[in-house]
Amino acid sequence: MSEQSDVVIIGGGVIGLCAAHYLSASGVTVTLLESRKVGAACSDKNAGLVVPSHIIPLAAPGVIKKGLQWMLRPDSPFYIRPRFNLELLTWLWKFSRACSHDQMRHSMPVLNEMLHASSALFDGFSTASDNAFGLTRRGLLMLYKTEKALQAETRDADAARDLGQEVNVLRNSELEALEPNIRMSAAGGIHYVRDAHLDPEAFVRTVHTRLDKKLVRIEERTEVHGFESQGNHISAVQTSHGRIAGKEFVLAAGAWSPVLSKALGIKLPMQAGKGYSVTVSNLVEKPRLPFILAEAKVAVTPIGESFRFAGTMELSGLNEHISRRRVQAILKAVPAYFPSLDTHKAETRQAWTGLRPCTPDGLPYIGRFTRVKNLVAATGHAMLGISLAPFTGKLVSEIVQHKKPSVKLSPLSPERFE
Ligand SMILES: Cc1cc2nc3c(=O)[nH]c(=O)nc-3n(C[C@H](O)[C@H](O)[C@H](O)COP(=O)(O)OP(=O)(O)OC[C@H]3O[C@@H](n4cnc5c(N)ncnc54)[C@H](O)[C@@H]3O)c2cc1C
Repeated sequence: MSEQSDVVIIGGGVIGLCAAHYLSASGVTVTLLESRKVGAACSDKNAGLVVPSHIIPLAAPGVIKKGLQWMLRPDSPFYIRPRFNLELLTWLWKFSRACSHDQMRHSMPVLNEMLHASSALFDGFSTASDNAFGLTRRGLLMLYKTEKALQAETRDADAARDLGQEVNVLRNSELEALEPNIRMSAAGGIHYVRDAHLDPEAFVRTVHTRLDKKLVRIEERTEVHGFESQGNHISAVQTSHGRIAGKEFVLAAGAWSPVLSKALGIKLPMQAGKGYSVTVSNLVEKPRLPFILAEAKVAVTPIGESFRFAGTMELSGLNEHISRRRVQAILKAVPAYFPSLDTHKAETRQAWTGLRPCTPDGLPYIGRFTRVKNLVAATGHAMLGISLAPFTGKLVSEIVQHKKPSVKLSPLSPERFE
């Protein structure tokens, strides 16, 4: 491969693609390297929720206690495969330290600002593509089986309202008025009005196909194996199809990012958080809204004429093995909230899995490294990669071009755990 681009992006998930979009929109030439097909890892069959409401990071007070309780249940939505692994133990230590009120107060406004800015940027993609990816702005309805859970989450809703979110706590008749298309069994719900949903596979395809081919070269089935450096700069990456030189490099390899950073002597604390989804197309009742079934931690998203059920956070390393038991657990949880949805018999052979790139504090890694001057991190978006992708792409473009970034970068520094 020849013709050096200004920027080499490693990883063609939603983050790498959005970075390519904003860089090329500024006239920067890009080579994007993807070891599979673009979007084919974590970015195409996830729940497709665009959630400015999700300002509470994964690392939050009470999560450790809840996680330990869940770990005792074989069908729980959270699981850590027991193993002696230094990187996992170090990550868990940093995660437990981040589960504090102080850290949450620090992270919430950061996520709030980024998520809102990102949500607004989806409109540009939607208008330009005649909404080819089904962006639908009807909000997100969190459903609670128990009064206790509803009360506890109402406090989170108040915190979200304090940060400018539009939030409504709803009881039975109000729930039915908002979503008349399906019978619900719940103590109540919280409607996050400004959330949205989309078809993530179609979004990835839209961004991919609309990239300016004169400026962006996409190399699929091209795996990056290593780096060539001169002093504290990368000069080229070594790939399965030869060497590719560039001036700037973007690390957007999702859950695999630490494997690559290690080759540069950089430790990036990250764990792969495995999740599953199943898409079902023959349901009789068709909800209009996307939901999160709160206690079960299951997302239900209308995608075209189908419904996608997604959930589980499993820390079991960089493996994409599908556990039928956990997929079944996601489907079995549904009728408790929607008694008329018979998901028991849904076809689990079509189950999908994705590895979320999870940082210990729930904030992504976006920014430069001091030791490798021309490398920019764009990874670690955990459960928010779709929601944050447009804004991350814009930020990467600003960082690469040495422009003033749209937000303060220090909370997102990839070196904040050193
Ligand atoms: C069940 C589930 C539901 C989810 N629901 C939502 C949701 O509703 N809303 C939301 O905002 N987020 C959601 N997410 C999270 C979201 O899917 C991720 O945060 C996002 O897809 C991460 O994107 P990425 O580009 O960082 O990583 P990826 O999509 O994993 O892309 C990284 C790419 O890098 C490539 N790569 C890795 N190593 C190399 C190498 N050496 N050389 C070349 N290429 C390489 C990989 O093949 C991969 O394609 C969900 C995730 C899961 C699992």
